[in-house]
Amino acid sequence: AKMVVPEKAASAPAEENVAISSRDRVIFPDSGQTKGELADYYAAIAPVMLPFAARRPVSLVRCPQGRAKKCFFQKHDSGAFGDAVHHVPIREKDGGHEDYLYVEDQRGLLQCVQMGTIEFHGWGARSDDVEKPDRMIFDLDPDEGLGFTEVKTAARDIHDRLADLGLTSFAMLSGGKGVHVVVPLTPGDSWGEHKDFARRFSEALSLAEPDRFTANMSKAKRKGRIFIDWLRNQRGATAVLPYSARARSGAPVAVPVTWNELKGMDDAKPFSIDQAETLLRRASSKALHGWGFVDQRLPDL
Ligand code: ATP
Ligand code: MN
Ligand code: MN
Repeated sequence: AKMVVPEKAASAPAEENVAISSRDRVIFPDSGQTKGELADYYAAIAPVMLPFAARRPVSLVRCPQGRAKKCFFQKHDSGAFGDAVHHVPIREKDGGHEDYLYVEDQRGLLQCVQMGTIEFHGWGARSDDVEKPDRMIFDLDPDEGLGFTEVKTAARDIHDRLADLGLTSFAMLSGGKGVHVVVPLTPGDSWGEHKDFARRFSEALSLAEPDRFTANMSKAKRKGRIFIDWLRNQRGATAVLPYSARARSGAPVAVPVTWNELKGMDDAKPFSIDQAETLLRRASSKALHGWGFVDQRLPDL
């Protein structure tokens, strides 16, 4: 498959920056990071995050009083975000339309942070054509008590099965407990075809190795297994975006890694918002160049 690397989004000049109120408010009580530090993280990481986050409907995890207080998912505008947080009308099941949110630049990311956003989650399609998915994600959710070694092996096995089908995939540490196996796609299939492929692929894996995998969401069926959460691939579902911060202890971030690096990782949260410089350096390394961008289509399954 051909690799397609997007042009880096230019970072906004300083005068375009967004005024952040309550910069000293502690958002991550156990590790101490403030709202100002979170904003600085997003300002710095924007050039490498935007190729994944820009012009994609987003759900925001907002925690206006910090991660230890009430947090909520927000999909629609409350009217207060600002001029760089844009709207895209999306058809609802009842036939009506609802406006979803998207951003396209550093200013958009920062206006969300100003409104208390910690996490950015994205649809599997771009706002230009929300009916044509452009990435598939296998979100590996281990049962409590399963080690990270099992998760890593599972991710690698999924990579190999996808490669057998001619598909290039990438690994992302979620910043939580699991790994997301990401398959970039050239838009073309419908959501129905997309979801069907994800379901059949995951069910085939769990049938072949029922002791290791389940494709069934129920916690009872997960006992000692890894749930391959293929439901991230249905219309309207989201997954945490690369380089998003997580509203979890220690202010970890979701981070793209190479398949080789993954082998040496001890958990899914080795990087935090304190490490923007390191993450930027990594992102421009040869090994991570092109991560998440491939011109390929799903084969018949
Ligand atoms: P972990 O590795 O700890 O599982 P994760 O980001 O994969 O982290 P999941 O609980 O597996 O977390 O959820 C996968 C994705 O489903 C999330 O990233 C998010 O986009 C979406 N999601 C989860 N819960 C909700 C919710 N309450 N409302 C909307 N979307 C959700
Ligand atoms: Mn998960
Ligand atoms: Mn999940």
